[in-house]
Amino acid sequence: MNLTISKNYKSPNYSLRKSLNIIDTIILHYTGMDSAKSALSHLCNEKSRVSTHYFINEKGKLWQLVEDDKVAWHAGVSKWLDRKNLNETSIGIELVNPGHEHGYKEFTFEQYEILEKLIKYLINKYDIKIDRILGHSDIAPSRKLDPGEKFNWQRLAKKNLSIWPENILNLPVAEDPDELLYNSLLNIGYDVKSYYEDSIFAFKRRFTPNNLLINNRNDLLKMVYSVYKEFSKIRSSY
Ligand SMILES: [Zn+2]
Repeated sequence: MNLTISKNYKSPNYSLRKSLNIIDTIILHYTGMDSAKSALSHLCNEKSRVSTHYFINEKGKLWQLVEDDKVAWHAGVSKWLDRKNLNETSIGIELVNPGHEHGYKEFTFEQYEILEKLIKYLINKYDIKIDRILGHSDIAPSRKLDPGEKFNWQRLAKKNLSIWPENILNLPVAEDPDELLYNSLLNIGYDVKSYYEDSIFAFKRRFTPNNLLINNRNDLLKMVYSVYKEFSKIRSSY
């Protein structure tokens, strides 16, 4: 695979993989800073205490700042399904974008192209399943918005690099809507026990990005239920 990785920036911010010693998750981020240059120097500054494995600028240039076999510090306090502290078992990928605080932009075609190549490469190398390709806001919904509603998860799903429901399903009758919403989000992986409302918003950023203010409860519930069913289908196929 034609993947050119620059290694002329290195981050000192990493630890050793120890507890589980597996890599089975990919976390996508945006940098949320005013320029690629400032983000790179932040991620490589010992004082920042943050880092990432991979970094992709707007032109689609790819850097590796921390080797895969080290734990990069990108996820922070996080939870998905029964897993906490996702840094330990994941690869972090930062996409340059000013983010919500500095003039949120569309991600570029070149970014998607190289990101998709990189994800394919990592999937093959570590046997990562597509239900574990996640956004930062999925695993830290109370603290993080990235990569946010401008990130096109559906594009990744079309290339089998992410999950998107094939169809919008009808809701099962005789199920309490509140319970169905809660349980579907829980079973997708969101930390609804601690952050119910934030999890709903993280879900919307990812799966109803053109309709963040969706307030027709039935429409939202149908999407959540359909996504949950798609996750279940994918997981039962492993
Ligand atoms: Zn992030």
